[in-house]
Amino acid sequence: MISRNQQLFERAQQFIPGGVNSPVRAFRSVGGTPRFFVAGLGPRVTDADGKSYVDYVGSWGPLIVGHAHPEVVAAVRDAALRGLSFGAPTEGEVDLAELLCRSMPALEMVRLVSSGTEATMSAIRLARGYTGRDLLIKFEGCYHGHSDSLLVKAGSGMLTFGHPSSGGVPADLARHTLVLDYNDSEGLEAAFAEHGSRVAAVIVEAVAGNMNLIAPRPAFLSAMRELCSRYGAVLIFDEVMTGFRVGGGGAQGLYGITPDLTTLGKVIGGGMPVGAFGGRREIMAKVAPLGPVYQAGTLSGNPVAVAAGLATLKLVHAPGFHERLARLTRQLTDGLAAAAAKHGVSFSVQSIGGMFGLYFRDQCPQTYAEVMSCDREAFNRFFHGMLAAGHYFAPSAFEAGFVSAAHGEADIAATVVAAETVFAAW
Ligand SMILES: *Cc1c(COP(=O)(O)O)cnc(C)c1O
Repeated sequence: MISRNQQLFERAQQFIPGGVNSPVRAFRSVGGTPRFFVAGLGPRVTDADGKSYVDYVGSWGPLIVGHAHPEVVAAVRDAALRGLSFGAPTEGEVDLAELLCRSMPALEMVRLVSSGTEATMSAIRLARGYTGRDLLIKFEGCYHGHSDSLLVKAGSGMLTFGHPSSGGVPADLARHTLVLDYNDSEGLEAAFAEHGSRVAAVIVEAVAGNMNLIAPRPAFLSAMRELCSRYGAVLIFDEVMTGFRVGGGGAQGLYGITPDLTTLGKVIGGGMPVGAFGGRREIMAKVAPLGPVYQAGTLSGNPVAVAAGLATLKLVHAPGFHERLARLTRQLTDGLAAAAAKHGVSFSVQSIGGMFGLYFRDQCPQTYAEVMSCDREAFNRFFHGMLAAGHYFAPSAFEAGFVSAAHGEADIAATVVAAETVFAAW
């Protein structure tokens, strides 16, 4: 009998490209049928066939307090009853902006938007407007949303300009983006030595979470800070994923580096569409209506979305929240590592706060090239084994995973037991 997931996927493919509204959801790299979800509660999700899973995707990061947390749902309901949108300022936006600025000392002012993509796109425009320069530096394997300037891959030589990595991006635009190797301080220094006076901004995931999880070498971040200051370029930390996920002050708090601009998303909307960009007052003063850099949004600071974000951040700011989340995440990674070791599977893991990386190779990768050397077939086998056993991991070997505060020790222990069974049959 054809499953309800399969029926929905077939219908979806008639009306939606690939049957999905964001590509990785289509299970293309792992194969098989995407699960259509009908409900989520705490650490678990239920698919259209009624099967339940322990969820380690968490909507790709936002659901740090789990699915349908009662306080978040109540805040959303209360806000919705007062009106869905005004296109005029509301008090909740001021509360959220103030809370973000108080949580991250590098934020003196923020502007709210509706997605991470919008946040990074706007931050780059602002950096260009502020410096009067065009050149942007990004790193291979870091993802900053799908705006034109950022869908760029490395040129043929290290210091040559980028090429579009997507159809529809003008080559002329890609030429303004230089794509370098993550964790390579010398490459960055060489790029500044050659092009420094033309660099508007360096944008980076201070902890990389879109090529699986790659931890930054501390020297890489400090070199980046020093070079941007020396050459007058704007340092943008894209903390759409890491903000409130790796710690209460984001990756910048964890590594003690102060960027000029920060982009946020995911957790700050608690599952609703909210993003933000912010930073030094002098730079933010260039944003319209104060300054000449235009940026706007009909639904920016939407009161229902902001209510979800505020309720989530209130829970995240409870004492000991991140310590407990990090401990739960380590319980998972330690358990998976022990299960793999017991059965001689080439496997490594690491976690930073509430995010983790799983790698089918002997050691945790530190570079894009190393992460690309992971055994994809092995990951796919692990993914499908765990899925069948009711444990939902991201459907790609190149995504970070997430634990929420709603996961209990028993949920994680059950996942480790399932992994042992999968590795035993390796
Ligand atoms: C998810 C993500 C984005 C894009 O955010 P959307 O809300 O999907 O547009 C940008 N940067 C990073 C680091 C992300 O993880």
